[in-house]
Amino acid sequence: MAKILLRVAQIVGVLVLAGIAVGIVVGLVQWLLGAAVIVAIPLGAWWIYKQVSSRNHRSTAVPGAQKSLAGPSGDRRSELESRAVLDAAGRCGWCGSPTLHKDEFGFPTTPLTFHRAEIDAML
Ligand SMILES: [Zn+2]
Repeated sequence: MAKILLRVAQIVGVLVLAGIAVGIVVGLVQWLLGAAVIVAIPLGAWWIYKQVSSRNHRSTAVPGAQKSLAGPSGDRRSELESRAVLDAAGRCGWCGSPTLHKDEFGFPTTPLTFHRAEIDAML
């Protein structure tokens, strides 16, 4: 008799533990789903906003960039760059240096490359 009671108590205990475990798992899944929805809504809204704004940005930026390339600053750049060349005597047309300019590694470089920063600064 005592053995049967023990057996029943054991089964009831296992069932209760299993019920608690299922409840925890179901609660966890519900919590995860809720958290996923809470995270997904602002993320989705942000993603849509980014898509729309980047599309708008691109469509407005392209004509502006083309305008600045074809505008007077492009002529000024090519005029300045045409001065940064070696003349017939092999001197730098930009600064008049009689020797070849060298880059930071000691290799000969073109006057245009060497004076690039100065040219950009004058634009
Ligand atoms: Zn020079």
